[in-house]
Amino acid sequence: MRKIYYQYDPNRRVYRRVFPTLGQRFMSWVWRFLLSVLLGGIFFIIYWFIISTPQVEDLLVENSRLQSQYRVLSRKVDDALLVLHDIEERDDNLYRVLLEADPVPDVARQAGFNGTNRYAELMDMSNADLVVNTSQKVDMLSKKLYMQTRSFNEVVELSREQEEKLACLPAIQPVSNKDLKRTASGYGYRNDPIYHVRRFHHGMDFACDTGTPVYATGNGKVVYAKWKSGYGNLVEIDHGYGYKTRYAHLSKILVKEGQKVVRSEEIALAGSTGKSTGPHVHYEVWVGNKDVNPINYYFMDLDADQYEEMIGIAENHGKVFD
Ligand SMILES: [Zn+2]
Repeated sequence: MRKIYYQYDPNRRVYRRVFPTLGQRFMSWVWRFLLSVLLGGIFFIIYWFIISTPQVEDLLVENSRLQSQYRVLSRKVDDALLVLHDIEERDDNLYRVLLEADPVPDVARQAGFNGTNRYAELMDMSNADLVVNTSQKVDMLSKKLYMQTRSFNEVVELSREQEEKLACLPAIQPVSNKDLKRTASGYGYRNDPIYHVRRFHHGMDFACDTGTPVYATGNGKVVYAKWKSGYGNLVEIDHGYGYKTRYAHLSKILVKEGQKVVRSEEIALAGSTGKSTGPHVHYEVWVGNKDVNPINYYFMDLDADQYEEMIGIAENHGKVFD
């Protein structure tokens, strides 16, 4: 229904009917509309910021609980990082040193932590510092754990290789102590028993009865098992890793060329074949293309006293059997 408007005319002291234009009517509506929006806004602000509803209260409580949970979580991650740091140190300074591996470079352990742009969507939160910081630490923890796992896989692989290598290295005497007569002679310059001149003795002699069992001193493959001039019946074992051993003057060879043997396996019987002046085993250890002093390769057999005794015997001025 259309409203009728009157205006008071003070000169004539009467009310006069006025007819507002369409424009005036429109502007009047606009003003009323704006006023309602303003009033509504004011009430909304009062309601929102001053009077809080039970739901808002609940959310505030929940938010503060979440914050304290986040702080606890952050401290736990700190603890985990510390423990992991200890493990990394032990890995680099003990396990990898023992296995002669290089430490894992810091660059690799820290890889992938450049910049914080991946946390950009968290930055507008009211507790951005706490949340971003904790997220960064959790990411760091998982990345470091991954690197550590890889390093330990490598360590396990290396120790397996090391175990194999230790099983192959010559590490015992070729003749058991119980069968050994005290007259053994060592490596180095000795009086030649046949030519009676000073000559270099390339191995160690173990005096024992003919028929005494001779043992492989480490795992390996027989690469020579027959007569050789000077050596008589000779067995040569290739242990891999550049190591070889020779067992000479044997009365009987019990293995064949190409045969795999393990440490302590009986490979021959002692004798006095070849250039020899009495029953004994002439034992040589080769590293690469050079013979070395076998005295350093009995570490599995001898305790400290026995080792001293063996050095005494090896250094003796007694008889070389060659
Ligand atoms: Zn000898």
